[in-house]
Amino acid sequence: MNEVKKPKKPLISYYCIVLLILILFNSLAMPWLMGHQVKDVDYGTFIQMTEDGKVGRAEIKEQSNTIVFTDKEEKNIYQTAMVSDPDLTDRLYQAGVSFYGEEIKQTSPILSFLMSWILPLLIFGALGELLARQLMKKAGGKNAMSFGMGKSSAKIYVKSSDGIKFSDVAGEDEAKENLAEIVDYLHNPDKYKKIGASMPKGLLLVGPPGTGKTMLAKAVAGEANVPFFSMSGSEFVEMFVGMGASKVRDLFQQAKEKAPCIVFIDEIDAIGKKRDGQIGGNDEREQTLNQLLTEMDGFEGNTGVIILAATNRPETLDPALLRPGRFDRRVPVELPDLKGREEIIRVHAKKIRVGDNVDYGKIARMASGASGAELANIVNEAALRAVRDHREYATQEDLEESIEVVIAGYQKKNAILTDKEKRIVAYHEVGHALVAAKQTNSMQSHSAPVQKITIVPRTSGALGYTMQVEEGNHYLMTKDEMENKIATLTGGRAAEEIVFSCVTTGASNDIEQATKLARSMITRYGMSKDFDMVAMETQTNQYLGGDTSLTCSAETQAMIDQKVVELVRKQHEKAAQILMENREKLDEISQYLYQKETITGEEFMKILNS
Ligand code: ADP
Repeated sequence: MNEVKKPKKPLISYYCIVLLILILFNSLAMPWLMGHQVKDVDYGTFIQMTEDGKVGRAEIKEQSNTIVFTDKEEKNIYQTAMVSDPDLTDRLYQAGVSFYGEEIKQTSPILSFLMSWILPLLIFGALGELLARQLMKKAGGKNAMSFGMGKSSAKIYVKSSDGIKFSDVAGEDEAKENLAEIVDYLHNPDKYKKIGASMPKGLLLVGPPGTGKTMLAKAVAGEANVPFFSMSGSEFVEMFVGMGASKVRDLFQQAKEKAPCIVFIDEIDAIGKKRDGQIGGNDEREQTLNQLLTEMDGFEGNTGVIILAATNRPETLDPALLRPGRFDRRVPVELPDLKGREEIIRVHAKKIRVGDNVDYGKIARMASGASGAELANIVNEAALRAVRDHREYATQEDLEESIEVVIAGYQKKNAILTDKEKRIVAYHEVGHALVAAKQTNSMQSHSAPVQKITIVPRTSGALGYTMQVEEGNHYLMTKDEMENKIATLTGGRAAEEIVFSCVTTGASNDIEQATKLARSMITRYGMSKDFDMVAMETQTNQYLGGDTSLTCSAETQAMIDQKVVELVRKQHEKAAQILMENREKLDEISQYLYQKETITGEEFMKILNS
């Protein structure tokens, strides 16, 4: 879509022009205007020059007690302080100096006044005029002297056939279906009006960052072929109260003039936060929100202005904003599932050159939990890696390595682990994998439970990691599966304890994850007999990190803590038991990993089943 770009840095070119004018002025015009420069000399030099016949004309200034004189050619002007010298006139007379001559041309006071006051004023005036014109252009030719205050700076995308289309947005079928209706409405409004249906005024796209919300909004405009106003919520928030509100007014006015069109407000939570009525609250934000609410009420549903907004914190939005008649519809844009991931990788892989051997399904399985933006990044990293290695196209290996780069950072080439540390890391990682394998095996599945185990340190600080596979999509997790996951997480530490009889700091991330899982089982999923189906915790921030807050009494909290410890301990013991029973395999695989540094899931299973 063609974005009508604002001139980016007009000031720089103006400054250059002004600077050029000043330099030219100083080098060419100034010497001419200023006349000759006056050199100060002492009286002795004056006498000497007079006697040598080098003085042309002289002017005796009684008032300022100075003598101004020129050389014979009258090229240079000199000045000296006058001393009491009764022979002066004689000397000059004898030397043939014309000292009654006309006044020698010096910088006149009027000229120097012009130079130092009027000229800079004129330059500033011209500069100001240029700036004002620029502002006028920016503000759409209206009232330049308002300095663009409170004007909406929404970027307008004009109608264009090469814009983003729904086909560019992979996966997200439900969201696309929902939005396709809007496109249809913009194409055939009569069809809807005939039956009396009115389109939703606003649609709220909610989901984690990087899932394609902005892309979807652009795709709606691209498909409908209508102007697209895009603005971020934070752009409304200004330092002065009332400015944001006036920007909102301006945006809606522009939109109504251009209807049918789409207005997209990204990160709407920046202005749409719940009004809490606290004293000293954010007046500017509340006024902006009030204005937005008023504007959304102010136009009829069928004017053809459709408002799309995106947020990853829907729970913080003001209920007034979410009520029908404003944002009538909420369109979830979730993290892509396996199929969605594969499609997204394929869409982005079209933009780069890839080899024939690429198994997109495998890449999608490896990149479990990645968002669309991360997948786009993975594909690009693969292309960059191919260039770095002087290859013509990206290979499967490039893509696999770039997943690891995006997840865990680049390989640390010169991180030096001691031999013992390396051995501990190898056992730790194999501990995870072995516990995972033994548990899945017991559930009659013989596929490799891990994709890859590596003990190459990464820039994220990970000394090694085990990449798990995701076969198909999981929408439900049983209690057993969750317990097994906790056991797998504790497997690393259990291996260290069994083999080295010591514990290290390497398990901190595992501990964090295991605790979170165990806690959610008890407080949110009702998987503990003691609390039955009572929620002890509520999630406050679903899409950004998933923070939770406790909603129970202090005694219950203490009990929860106790239960969490019990649960994790039980799984830790289970993991230790599994590893002790398979001690030989643990040693064998760890030794192999220690030597090779990276092993695949197949290699792992081969040793395990040998
Ligand atoms: P959001 O607004 O949800 O934070 P964006 O729409 O800005 O995310 O997406 C960022 C980038 O991620 C896009 O430019 C695109 O390259 C990629 N992307 C995200 N989701 C998808 C998708 N479903 N299909 C293709 N590319 C996607």
